[in-house]
Amino acid sequence: MIDRYGRTIDYLRISITDRCNLRCLYCMPAEGVDWKPHGEILSFEEILRLCTVMAGIGIRKVKITGGEPLVRKDVGNFIRSLRAVPGIEQVTLTSNGLLLESFLAENPALSLGGINVSLDTLDPELYSRITRYPGDTLFRDQGIPSILRALDLAEERGIPVKLNCVPLRGLNEAELPAIAALAKKAGRAVRFIELMPLGSANELEPIPGNEVAALLERAYGKLISYHGRLGNGPAEYFSLPGFAGKIGFINALSEGFCECCNRLRLSSGGMLIPCLSSESGTDLRRLLRSGVSEDELQAAVMETLDRKPGSHNFSERYQIERTKHVSGMYCIGG
Ligand code: SAM
Ligand code: SF4
Repeated sequence: MIDRYGRTIDYLRISITDRCNLRCLYCMPAEGVDWKPHGEILSFEEILRLCTVMAGIGIRKVKITGGEPLVRKDVGNFIRSLRAVPGIEQVTLTSNGLLLESFLAENPALSLGGINVSLDTLDPELYSRITRYPGDTLFRDQGIPSILRALDLAEERGIPVKLNCVPLRGLNEAELPAIAALAKKAGRAVRFIELMPLGSANELEPIPGNEVAALLERAYGKLISYHGRLGNGPAEYFSLPGFAGKIGFINALSEGFCECCNRLRLSSGGMLIPCLSSESGTDLRRLLRSGVSEDELQAAVMETLDRKPGSHNFSERYQIERTKHVSGMYCIGG
């Protein structure tokens, strides 16, 4: 699939649930989230049908995300079925990592092309503050320790791991060098993602990528540009002295990453969304449940592709819509 701006679109991010076991400050409100009723969430069979249709017109890589994908039952079997869809070459997963250790233990032979784990701090109290996760004695072997064990377990199985961290002014600033240090291990990448004006993020202040880079250089030495390819995303990667893994930056606001955008997003409720900043998408759930043919589904996907904008409008949003509610990542297939 080639869009109006000449970009090849071969990557689909699928949110399999809007639910989550955390309530990160930048993603969800603390309370009162209106979860979609089960009947409004696409079944795995429906998602597999859509993936078969989309693989037929060029989708090759799929990322499973949410909400927190691992709170949904039977994700392991779903991933195995997805791997068997003709044309799908890679399936990856994004998770907050809290259930990852047990998920990997229950699915010892799962073929995953990579796992992204979100971790904004290694400090249990700050973790509780940012994620609103109850900070009690469970932290001794659950919580952060379990996330770190899951990273090692994935790597022992040959699954590449990337850590995602959102730098937040006045919250995890001092923690960023410690998070970066997780990339001292070979084969691992730590990426710093600029806060985007989605969900509850408008009350928080981002730290621009160049500021994070300067902070890391003060701690570890000069960042050296890495030109190799790592994964399917928009991150720019660097090496640091003494680091066997890489450091990445996703500077969505200060630099933009739209020229090389390769993706569509499918929300858990079945909306196919052309861009993170899109206010609307195509209701594939309604189409699926009204008994349409494969050709009609393909046409709906192509029509959505045609509405993919050349770039997001986040900078304008920060200036003129700071107080307006915008759907969080967990709603739109983050
Ligand atoms: N629950 C999983 C997790 O946290 O990795 C998967 C879904 S989460 C919505 C996917 C990613 O979106 C996470 O890395 C999270 O940090 C990021 N995210 C959520 N809201 C964001 C925002 N407003 N700006 C930047 N990144 C955000
Ligand atoms: Fe849940 Fe991920 Fe959103 Fe945090 S960022 S609330 S872990 S979906």
